Amino acid sequence: MPSLARWASDPAASRGRRHTETPAPTRNEHQRDRDRIVHSTAFRRLVYKTQVFVNHEGDLFRTRLTHSLEVAQLARSMARTLGWNEDLVEAIALAHDLGHTPFGHAGQDALHERMREHGGFEHNLQSLRVVDALEARYADFDGLNLTFETREGILKHCSRRHAELLCRDEPEGPAARFLRGEQPSLEAQLVNLADALAYNAHDIDDGVRSGLLATEQLEGALPLYRRLHEEALAEHPQLAGRRLLFDVLRRLIGALVDDLVHTTAKALEEAAPRDSDAVRRLPPLVRFSPALRAELDALQRFLLQALYRHPQVLRTTEHARRVVAELFDAYRDDPRLMPDDFGQRPDLERAVADYIAGMTDRFAQREHQRLTGTDLFAG
Ligand code: MG
Repeated sequence: MPSLARWASDPAASRGRRHTETPAPTRNEHQRDRDRIVHSTAFRRLVYKTQVFVNHEGDLFRTRLTHSLEVAQLARSMARTLGWNEDLVEAIALAHDLGHTPFGHAGQDALHERMREHGGFEHNLQSLRVVDALEARYADFDGLNLTFETREGILKHCSRRHAELLCRDEPEGPAARFLRGEQPSLEAQLVNLADALAYNAHDIDDGVRSGLLATEQLEGALPLYRRLHEEALAEHPQLAGRRLLFDVLRRLIGALVDDLVHTTAKALEEAAPRDSDAVRRLPPLVRFSPALRAELDALQRFLLQALYRHPQVLRTTEHARRVVAELFDAYRDDPRLMPDDFGQRPDLERAVADYIAGMTDRFAQREHQRLTGTDLFAG
């Protein structure tokens, strides 16, 4: 690894794992985390989990797997430029969506609704549960036994109530910062913004591909998009259709990455933290410039209105909520319908939530069809 900036997370100075292990001979601690994540069952399931479009709507839309790979690519490339820990950002990026239910946010909302009286359901907390407890592959411990730094990056948000609960078991764990009002490592902050950068760009692509968004709408509503569109045409007047869209999106990602790297480098120069720990006690240092932040917010608002709340997307969302809610009721009423390692757990509701959260879109759909006799997504 090229030399790290003094505020980067040094794998040799990791706060370590909950269960002590002998160091790996050929890999540093964060490379080892990344490898464990890639080999996990939850990671393989990401290929059949979706965010906006359900799998059967087409083969070319993003899934959570390709989204996670795009986030990892963007975050690694920025980390390299900034002299930060590339392996750590890769590990966090590949794990950041492991706790998502089938069918994206619709699935999560339905599960949260059913879990209201039992501690609720939140995908960030679930991602941490997956790597801390639910993966069952190692002889000596449950979960993947990842380092503190990777777990800290995975736990992106956490309510005060949940942080207090988590800190009861692990007072200096990744939830402690939410009680102290501290930031995570720079690498964690970077993945967080790389996530937003990736989905904003690829949801435009998927939105246009689906026919639910027209590029004219984007040009009309978003000055940033219009500017890049004009720039692309000025350089390549013959460009049209999807190739023009790709060229604009390439410019959009480039502009966002350049701005983020530049603004962050400047913020670090001014704050001059002594080391990676000092970063945690400062305000967030990974950021876009105010001008670009405002344009990104406008893009996010646009996508919310024009795409995520498009009637066709909402219809699928409604089906997804029903599938998850009806599965929950069926398993709660008869736990024997679940595999034994879930069906025999004493914490029944949490076991049902863990089981459903682990499902892929199509498994949930088939299981729902098997248990209720209806296929909501047919036709
Ligand atoms: Mg994401």
